[in-house]
Amino acid sequence: MGKRAVFLDRDDTLIVNVPYLGDPSLVELMPGAAAAVQELRRQNLTLIVISNQSGVGRGLITKEQVRAVDSRMEELLGGGPIFARYGHCFAAPGDPYDEYRKPSPKMIQEAASTLSIDLSQSFMVGNRLSDIQSGQNAGCRTILLKLCVPADELQDASRLATYSATDWPAAVNWILQKA
Ligand SMILES: [Mg+2]
Repeated sequence: MGKRAVFLDRDDTLIVNVPYLGDPSLVELMPGAAAAVQELRRQNLTLIVISNQSGVGRGLITKEQVRAVDSRMEELLGGGPIFARYGHCFAAPGDPYDEYRKPSPKMIQEAASTLSIDLSQSFMVGNRLSDIQSGQNAGCRTILLKLCVPADELQDASRLATYSATDWPAAVNWILQKA
């Protein structure tokens, strides 16, 4: 049997979204994120980041800057390694490889096949409609974390998600009940 995983969006899910963030000193955790990832790890869930970072493809930031931000995030979350893998799509819309961008399930599917993860026993957590779509397209249960959802996506994302969580403790409780 494959491993169970929680796929996690990064911006406005784990850290506060700063558009095209390349400066690790500006990384700030979302409320409850550190306790949430530590609890999920204690329960032996494999944690994987799934994030569109089109700022690279747009020439605004480098991959090295994205990795520096990720490292700072892991440090603030309590020290690593916390994530088994990072799925980043660096393409801007229209670029080669942009078919990996969420709402595509490709980044989730690639991580699952590399790490022997059972997608039907796994979860995707995010704050955007495209996060919920990518998780659903991959065959995961999906959690809309409602800390920071764009107003024009809230209704569709809430309807599509398996569960809508008002905050991180609610999301973790639900996952641990279903896992
Ligand atoms: Mg996000």
